[in-house]
Amino acid sequence: MDKRYVLAIDQSTQGTKAVLFSDAGLLVAKTARPHRQIIHDNGYVEHDGEEIMANMLAVIREVVELAGVEPEEVACLGISNQRETCIAWDRTTRLPLYNAIVWQCSRAKEICAQMEEADPSIAACVRELSGMNLSPYFSAGKMAWLVRNVPAVMDAAEAGTLALGTMDSWVLYALSEEHAFATEPSNASRTQLLDIARCTWSEELCEAFGVPMEALAEVRPSDSVFGHTTAGGLFPEPIPICGMLGDSQAALMGQGCTEPGQVKATYGTGSSIMMQAGSELVRSKNGLVTSLGWEFDGTRSYVLEGNINYTGAVVSWMKDDARLIYDPSDAEACARRANQADRAYFVPAFTGLGAPYWDDEACAILTGVTRTTGHDEIVKAGLESIAYQIGDVVGAMRADTGLDVSELRVDGGPTANGYLMQFQSDVTSVDVSVSSVAELSAAGAAYVAGHAAGVYGGNAIFEQISRTTYTPKMEDVRREVLLSGWRAAVRQAMTH
Ligand code: ADP
Repeated sequence: MDKRYVLAIDQSTQGTKAVLFSDAGLLVAKTARPHRQIIHDNGYVEHDGEEIMANMLAVIREVVELAGVEPEEVACLGISNQRETCIAWDRTTRLPLYNAIVWQCSRAKEICAQMEEADPSIAACVRELSGMNLSPYFSAGKMAWLVRNVPAVMDAAEAGTLALGTMDSWVLYALSEEHAFATEPSNASRTQLLDIARCTWSEELCEAFGVPMEALAEVRPSDSVFGHTTAGGLFPEPIPICGMLGDSQAALMGQGCTEPGQVKATYGTGSSIMMQAGSELVRSKNGLVTSLGWEFDGTRSYVLEGNINYTGAVVSWMKDDARLIYDPSDAEACARRANQADRAYFVPAFTGLGAPYWDDEACAILTGVTRTTGHDEIVKAGLESIAYQIGDVVGAMRADTGLDVSELRVDGGPTANGYLMQFQSDVTSVDVSVSSVAELSAAGAAYVAGHAAGVYGGNAIFEQISRTTYTPKMEDVRREVLLSGWRAAVRQAMTH
């Protein structure tokens, strides 16, 4: 029987999806199962590693059934996953020693603060080696917390049976017949333990965080044959797991951003904006972080990334909290109805400001309010704040690399908003291309795995993605006026 299908898993924060693609790169079927968000009274956020694995086996079975294909027709499996989330397990019992600590969880805050207190030069060293600022959001601090606070983890470390992994490693370990213990550069570089120039675990970083290096997974190219799986007996012959990428890098691949200077932006609750930087390590001087994109087809690539806390969430806030709209889709009509000459700006610094401004203490402000400012103008200002923030990250990318960004490939809920997309194109001077495929992380993982398994020779998945493109229509003078007003508003919101 022809092995014509590629299976992709997208193990995300909210749930686990299985997506089946054909050999022509068409999305054939998808299924998803949510898992519990375990939130403790003190704000700690966890996931149950075994629940996620049970969901994974279920969605794989469901998607094959839903598509009406024979299990024998599935050629290989690719994995995309939530980044930074990490989990400890024992290599003899093969069971987790504690729940997975989710990327959103800031329990390692004190560990990072103590490190800085003990050695004031540590922050610069961490940034130099890992490409990212010392922060409890990356896996290193979370792993350090596990090693210091969970007796079972301490015991396993002593016995030499401890495994500390990101979600790709856990999923691979639990799914593969060989119990392979490996990871790849996009996930490894988001732990904050990888020397990104060498693409190997850094002894210095492991020592600084107190994470035993021997408990970490082997770093292999993203398109390695990591292991083989029957997915709990579904596949009569084990199929290769031959593509793994962290979700943002997987979306970058799914968007076809393989040339230096190509940028993708995911508009969700928050946003991840990522630029393909090519094979040379680029260090940011403008508030972005550097990570590895992947090692694919024999080539290593680097990326620049900026994350924004509040983008689509501004629209949710206008609906649920400020009660300015009934539905997210109302925002577009309000913005179109609004007085276009109104000069109000909204800076959504609800939890400080992220890239590229970095001000934890900043508070949200509505400014520039005049007699022309009413309901619709406030909604318009909220919506436009999404585009301004993303535009500023793109500006930082341009400044860091000297590359001309002429196109932004976008996806996510708010891209349904035509006003926002046109405004993004206008204020950032880029073509904004909205992808017709919603499952870009899965598409990226499927492409890597399908390419490694020989199902995809050319650009099979990319060719299937049709795009709606918005081109800049605003006059330069008007853009400059708007941007200088926005910059002044951001300065007002900032505390330094
Ligand atoms: P996530 O994957 O983070 O859950 P989605 O891609 O589903 O995000 O996008 C959800 C966000 O998009 C919500 O915050 C919602 O308010 C916003 N959103 C949805 N539709 C629109 C729209 N038409 N205009 C503006 N924002 C929207």
